[in-house]
Amino acid sequence: MLAVSNPKRTPVFRLLTIASSGLGSFVLGLWGLKLGLGDGFAGISADMMVSVMAALCALAASVAAMSFFAGVDESADFVFTETHFDKLTGLVARAAMVGKIAEAACATSRTGEPMFLIDIDIDRFKQINDAIGYSQGDELIRAFTKRLKTCVPPRALIGRIGAGEFAILLPDNQVSGSLESTIERLIDEMMEPYDLGKHLQSVSLSVGIVAMPKDGVDPVLILRRSNLALQNARASGVGNWSVFHAEMGRVADHRQWIESELNTAFERGDFDLHYQPQLDLPTGRIVGYEALIRWRHPERGMIPPMEFIPIAEETGMIGPIGEWVLRKACSDARHLPDDCFVAVNISPVQFMTKDFVGIVRDTMTSTGIKPSRLELEVTETAMMQDRDRAAAILKELADMGISVAVDDFGTGYSNLSYLIDFSFGKLKIDRSFVSRLDTDSSSGAVVSTIVGLSRALGVSIIAEGVETESQATLLRAAGCEVVQGYLYGRPAPLKIRVGDVHVTDEVRRVANLH
Ligand code: C2E
Ligand code: CA
Ligand code: CA
Repeated sequence: MLAVSNPKRTPVFRLLTIASSGLGSFVLGLWGLKLGLGDGFAGISADMMVSVMAALCALAASVAAMSFFAGVDESADFVFTETHFDKLTGLVARAAMVGKIAEAACATSRTGEPMFLIDIDIDRFKQINDAIGYSQGDELIRAFTKRLKTCVPPRALIGRIGAGEFAILLPDNQVSGSLESTIERLIDEMMEPYDLGKHLQSVSLSVGIVAMPKDGVDPVLILRRSNLALQNARASGVGNWSVFHAEMGRVADHRQWIESELNTAFERGDFDLHYQPQLDLPTGRIVGYEALIRWRHPERGMIPPMEFIPIAEETGMIGPIGEWVLRKACSDARHLPDDCFVAVNISPVQFMTKDFVGIVRDTMTSTGIKPSRLELEVTETAMMQDRDRAAAILKELADMGISVAVDDFGTGYSNLSYLIDFSFGKLKIDRSFVSRLDTDSSSGAVVSTIVGLSRALGVSIIAEGVETESQATLLRAAGCEVVQGYLYGRPAPLKIRVGDVHVTDEVRRVANLH
């Protein structure tokens, strides 16, 4: 619990009050004694005068003591209010909510009557707060609270447990109809725009639900589980809700395990690069290789990049890992045929770091790779975080002679105006379009349009994820002649001997090396 004290009633303040009133009484007493010494005063005897002064001193001291204890009481109230209630909304604050959940858990274990904890979070509240300013942000929270109070049954208890996060303790017997319809109604009502005076603010919500005692009775665990359910709801889209189930805990545990293992794995040398060929269809020649990271854990085996790259991005481990990938790929390139380039995936986090271009430059110097043999694959999202900075980075890379391919093209940003401002050399058509080519004619139209766009912009084009002959035929017909996919070779380790290139059998077959 936070140590909070009433700023108007500090201990020093109270001591000063008592000391000054005591001292005042003492001086008053002395003065009275001096005056009354001798024959007394106005017919009152000296003894009587002393008694009166002593009584006055006692009275002053008791007033001081009362003031002191009144102060203590007031401080106790103050501390209770400060720690139990959220200042902005008057709702139960997080620390106190833990206590309320514990009480509810006790009651539900005793009576067997279920109790729900509903965790409601305003999506991207921090960004909203930054965008509209803190005072409007506070206004939004107040308006949200006011509406929330009208939307939940009277016996539900509401707490504010984070900046834009609220928890509701809802007894089962307060749920009218099904829990599902209650929650959906609640979300609908709470997602209606908020009138903040200057503008109407829209919000989206994610909701996680835990049932006590079924999902546990430990208040900290209950809060963790409701949050897991909430994260799960958020991952499935706007205005969603999820009820906790055990699998969510396992996913979170796995995530935590990866987070704690990444550093050790990096130092132990668990990581390796596999290479997947990129092929020019008309000539059947391999023009480049995409480097794809692989993590072989000594006990758990292969862990796919999609499981650990996002976590490495969040924890900052992508810095050293990404730098290692770049260095290794550039040094491996020395063992590839001179007319092949190596394509390296660059995470958005890595791309936007301050010294990214410096790192690329150093790597090129230390590995001696020619700029024309290095290609960086960057997604649209990476470039959209800060357009001006991204444009400057791309320009520097282009000036260094390094080509950049827009990875996963067509899946990210919909505003194509960036294509005009940015210097890049290639569009990489995402696998999601290629995989539907056989079955969905509109995918074909999208692919043809992207090919047309690349021609108009004067940049190259490649399609990824080619798995069937018919996809390859359709791509060629659409004008896309460079391809990559399982049909031509899976990512595989490049077994290197000095002065000799040992590529996989699949690559040999495709490249007619037999
Ligand atoms: P990506 O950049 O889109 O890479 C292509 C992914 O598709 C690779 O998955 C590759 O193995 C897979 N793939 C290639 N051909 C086919 C195909 O014909 N069919 C199917 N179904 N899949 C195919 P992988 O290696 O699991 O990598 C997944 C993602 O992880 C990559 O997607 C990339 O975003 C990221 N990644 C991989 N290596 C690195 C790295 O070194 N650095 C960074 N920052 N990200 C990486
Ligand atoms: Ca890629
Ligand atoms: Ca992709």
